[in-house]
Amino acid sequence: MSPDSGLPADDESAVGGVHIKYLVHCPRQLWLYARGYRPEQRSDLVAFGEVVDDTTFTRRRDVDLGEAKIDWVTTGAVVHETKSSRAPAPGHTAQVRHYCLLLERRGVNVRGGVVHYPLIRRTTDVAWDDDARAEAEDTEAQAQAVIAASTAPDRLLRGKCRGCSYLDYCWGD
Ligand code: SF4
Repeated sequence: MSPDSGLPADDESAVGGVHIKYLVHCPRQLWLYARGYRPEQRSDLVAFGEVVDDTTFTRRRDVDLGEAKIDWVTTGAVVHETKSSRAPAPGHTAQVRHYCLLLERRGVNVRGGVVHYPLIRRTTDVAWDDDARAEAEDTEAQAQAVIAASTAPDRLLRGKCRGCSYLDYCWGD
């Protein structure tokens, strides 16, 4: 589907973890993604991430919520997300907070989350409390507003686009 073809490809009310990650990285990326533009499926970096994801924790169980697929949830409940990135990013914690929100809406008593960075042997804890819930709800509302917008948000400054799989589309590289 062309990114210019009108309405979002996804149900705009169903905001998943990827939507949140892209929103925090770049609202334009979210807008394009919601309209079916998926260059990341061809990206070597994404393929590499999937290999890391598939091989790091072999005994985990995915939790498929429909709009979001959580890497795994341990007793408690603690949401776990694995990233192939070598640098923690705000979008990663926002994504985990969103998963906490989605689970809580399904009646799960969520304790918090952890983002795992196996390539740098690091983890980041994600708190789940009233402030985190309010932040997650606000982020979700922002994502819904971006997805519903009739025109694409502006590009980021060129320097912030480095490594983005949407570079070809946005800058014609
Ligand atoms: S290339 Fe830049 S402007 Fe385009 S989606 Fe990526 S970060 Fe956003």
